[in-house]
Amino acid sequence: MSETTAFVKVQDASCWFDVSAPWLERVLKRRPRIQLKAVNGVSFSLQKGETLALVGESGCGKSTVARLLVGLYEATGGYIEFDGQPISKLRTREGKHLRQRLQMIFQDPYASLNPRWRVARIIAEPLKVHGRMSRAEREARVDVLLEQVGLSPSDRNRYPHQFSGGQRQRISIARALAANPEFLVCDEPTSALDVSVQAQVLNLMKRLQRELGLTYLFISHNLAVVHHVADRIAVMYLGKIVELATRDELFERPRHPYTRMLLSAIPDTSGAGKQRVPVAGEVPNPLNPPTGCPFHPRCPYARDICRNEMPATLPDGATLVACHGVQQGWIPDSDAEATAVATSAR
Ligand code: SF4
Repeated sequence: MSETTAFVKVQDASCWFDVSAPWLERVLKRRPRIQLKAVNGVSFSLQKGETLALVGESGCGKSTVARLLVGLYEATGGYIEFDGQPISKLRTREGKHLRQRLQMIFQDPYASLNPRWRVARIIAEPLKVHGRMSRAEREARVDVLLEQVGLSPSDRNRYPHQFSGGQRQRISIARALAANPEFLVCDEPTSALDVSVQAQVLNLMKRLQRELGLTYLFISHNLAVVHHVADRIAVMYLGKIVELATRDELFERPRHPYTRMLLSAIPDTSGAGKQRVPVAGEVPNPLNPPTGCPFHPRCPYARDICRNEMPATLPDGATLVACHGVQQGWIPDSDAEATAVATSAR
């Protein structure tokens, strides 16, 4: 993919939070500053109309990346660009037009919708902020948006608590679409929903993408969900991307041991009795991350170099992967061999 034509470009982005004690206590007790490196040197790009999924266990930094992209957090380092313009512009007066072009859908539709507002007011709010529409034009646009997300214009006077979880997420999507955005950052948009409703919302999002030419960054902890929507998948672990590949390549030939662990956690409904790499251990404390490769305390293939040196992110075919074992050829290719190694290491 040509980096120069990327619609969204994230280059070595970091987001660190100071979690030290209040400054006076820290100075008096001579405590050092403590920083939480929620995102630490993340790079990826998106083409227009593409869906990139960001997956990983909770606490890996994927929601922080989402907030960086819509300007809710400011990057500590690196560079983020949207359609050739720096994302830092979002925080300026001139950034109003840019803000309109990118929107976010949150995980919990109930928490993100004002419970005291009727649906019509919730959806029309971005139109008031970003548009110069008359009241009648806004009303008409709300009806169109309700229909676009599979609700009825007759729902416009109801309150959020009068809808099911799936319908509330449809309202969130309608609100995000109100300002005619081009890029949607979707932070676990289906994880609060029942499985049957998840599929309906995912299908709705795919249809809207086709009809409106949207670009999605889709964040999820569930690889099975992103399989339905993603063109490419980036796997995050402790603030870093450890593997980035096309969806088919990642599912058919996962390289990184952590990706294999996540894939093993997907229930096997094929009846083929797939080999599994057991999911071992817990995500380490991000305030005290392991030296070298952050995955080494959980990795069945770890060697001395893994404990001492952070692996670089290098291409393996069209896949980008950060793993000494893949780069130096000691990770087995087949699932069966991987399972044997992983099981014996436990
Ligand atoms: Fe495992 Fe080493 Fe690769 Fe890290 S670098 S994933 S510890 S083999």
